[in-house]
Amino acid sequence: MTDITLHPHRDFSVLHRHPWIFSGAIARIDGTPEPGVPVRVLSAEGEVLGIGAFSPSSQIRVRMWTFGDKQAVDEAFVRDRVARAVGGRAIFIAEDQTNAYRLVNAEADGVPGLIADRYGDWIVCQFTAAGAERWKREIVSALQAFSPCRGVYERSDVDVREHEGLPPLTGVLAGEPPPERIEIVEHSCRYLVDVRAGHKTGFYLDQRDSRETVKRYANGCDVLNAFSYTGGFGIAAVAAGAASVIHVDLSEPALELAKSNTALNTCHVDESSFIQGNVFEVLRKFRDEGRSFDLVVLDPPKFAESKGSLMKAARGYKDINLLGIKLLRPGGLLATFSCSGLMTPDLFHKVVSDAAVDAKRDIQVIKRLQQAEDHPEGLCFPEGLYLKGLLCRAW
Ligand code: SAH
Repeated sequence: MTDITLHPHRDFSVLHRHPWIFSGAIARIDGTPEPGVPVRVLSAEGEVLGIGAFSPSSQIRVRMWTFGDKQAVDEAFVRDRVARAVGGRAIFIAEDQTNAYRLVNAEADGVPGLIADRYGDWIVCQFTAAGAERWKREIVSALQAFSPCRGVYERSDVDVREHEGLPPLTGVLAGEPPPERIEIVEHSCRYLVDVRAGHKTGFYLDQRDSRETVKRYANGCDVLNAFSYTGGFGIAAVAAGAASVIHVDLSEPALELAKSNTALNTCHVDESSFIQGNVFEVLRKFRDEGRSFDLVVLDPPKFAESKGSLMKAARGYKDINLLGIKLLRPGGLLATFSCSGLMTPDLFHKVVSDAAVDAKRDIQVIKRLQQAEDHPEGLCFPEGLYLKGLLCRAW
């Protein structure tokens, strides 16, 4: 195994069990390891810090598999990591809440660069780092062993693979190809998921708990579901007895699926409840028309892609929240989210409170929200907490 030695004083993060080693921390590489192979990481003093996967083209040059000098990284190790992750999700099967949930959440589950999501009888995977890519065959076989399924499908069509020097890939990895739409159950709602072309691996599983929270408050409400994707929050609200729901999204295929999902859960589909458009413009138009709602959901895409764009993103979040707050009737609820990992919960809180100040409204936080429990955050890997939200009431 190739040894990689760090510069003096650059072992701090590894010693604190953070899994990423950036290229600037590396003093010496003894050899020319292949992409994704296990490499041994040493401090400047020669102490073995652990074993990681080598990514020659990425700024994140090594992703740690294991810390200390006790374990070997081989097929049995990778199998065990998958078993450990899948075993932790047994509660979803036991409690019968849903048949769609994340089986492996990358770094937080000790398998850097691997996302594996279960949708009914299929597993959909994303390999985003050279290490996970290298062990693909073993990972797929372990997933099939520990979470039996009809097929495993790959959705590695994500930009981050470019940093790893990996091409985009999609297709069947094992078993049967998935149908055009997989029907999933989430608590009392049913959703159709397009795992071949939908966002992420097909559905925003990370919002499951927040959809349940919104449900508790939605009875009798007129709801605005902004950035609706395939209907998620709005369909949950209807199931809870919402009086009306308007979905707004830019994506036509997402709205088509939102209509199908509405039909699947209720008898009546009102075409005018689905607006294809830019949320910023639609909300401004609603404001100018004097429209108002009891519950507004704001679940925008990632606005901050890099540290350099964080302040611009913060302005975007503030604008959208200001517009959302202005549309709330007195006592109305705002469920607002940010899935930008770079936006910390504190900064997000500040942005929403700045919007409240500009809107001249009294606002209370009823609940702090975050990604669902099948998307755990590594305790020593704060980057893993990317999705945060606030459920607020505005007077
Ligand atoms: N709340 C959804 C997930 C939303 S993902 C759920 O629970 O399933 C974000 C969505 O915002 C995507 O569907 C994307 O198409 C949409 N989007 C991105 N920018 C937009 C904009 N400016 N106006 C309207 N929709 C937008």
